[in-house]
Amino acid sequence: RAKELGKNGFQYYTREMNASVEEKLVLLEGLRSALEGGQFSLLYQPKVDLRSGRMFGVEALIRWQHPVHGMVPPSRFIALAEESGLIIPIGDWILHTACRQAAQWRDAGLPPVTMSVNVSPRQFEEKRLVERVGEALAANGLDAGAVEIEVTEGLIMRDLAQSVGKMAQLKAMGVTLSIDDFGTGYSSLSALKSFPISTLKIDKSFVRDLADNAGSQAIALAVISLGHRLNLRVLAEGVETEQQRRFLLENDCDEMQGYLFSRPVTAGEIAGLLQRQAGLAGAEAPACH
Ligand code: C2E
Ligand code: MG
Ligand code: MG
Ligand code: MG
Repeated sequence: RAKELGKNGFQYYTREMNASVEEKLVLLEGLRSALEGGQFSLLYQPKVDLRSGRMFGVEALIRWQHPVHGMVPPSRFIALAEESGLIIPIGDWILHTACRQAAQWRDAGLPPVTMSVNVSPRQFEEKRLVERVGEALAANGLDAGAVEIEVTEGLIMRDLAQSVGKMAQLKAMGVTLSIDDFGTGYSSLSALKSFPISTLKIDKSFVRDLADNAGSQAIALAVISLGHRLNLRVLAEGVETEQQRRFLLENDCDEMQGYLFSRPVTAGEIAGLLQRQAGLAGAEAPACH
């Protein structure tokens, strides 16, 4: 095989490597100017009560429109933002933008919805996080109860005592917390019971093959019953099919999020959904979007 590749093969390989390092540098350069350039935006994905079918909240999800590379997904730049520390100013922008949006919906007379914001490890560990959240709330005259922070197990376990302390501070402020991607990270069950959280989000990898994979079913059922025993609500993410929805409903899961109801959409589209749901436009709440 080495012979097949030969000298050219090797050169090709190194050029590829350089391209990816170069690409990373280009992205990082772009990331530095993206905030000032107004290249970030937030989309919002509905969170729905499984039993009533009503949207009760939304999750803010960041989007980056790069002038040359087009839409760069968060899976490609959040880690880079973490590494470089840029997640701190970007995270502030996310918090302020999400809070401003929630206040705008409220001021437009729309029914209240919880605004969930993802917080990544370095952002969570930064010492002024709790103040930063407070500032975003105050700047927009928003009640803390209107905001939820999503964190992952991995993030909490990096420094358990510190994380639980910070979560308790947020909770004392009135902000609710949920564990994102539950089941994919590592957290001991004894640690889980000390988390001051309100919701477990079952990772979408278990929801994806819920219809035909006994292992995923077992995990989903275990998370639902564990969550309920701990007095938590359980949300399933990545619900795409009616079959998945029915399985979750029949097995007492509380909430869902996924393409079946709606993809992440603009603030204007959320306002439209809320209006329809409230019957303001005379239409019924959509079972599906
Ligand atoms: P996450 O917080 O677990 O968000 C859920 C992801 O699943 C989102 O991808 C969402 O668009 C996608 N999704 C929702 N419903 C479905 C479905 O039915 N099927 C499938 N296949 N996917 C679905 P997205 O927006 O690309 O975000 C990916 C991850 O990037 C997020 O995972 C989160 O970890 C991170 N992220 C996104 N926005 C932010 C943000 O504002 N701040 C931080 N710190 N991280 C963010
Ligand atoms: Mg999330
Ligand atoms: Mg998730
Ligand atoms: Mg996820």
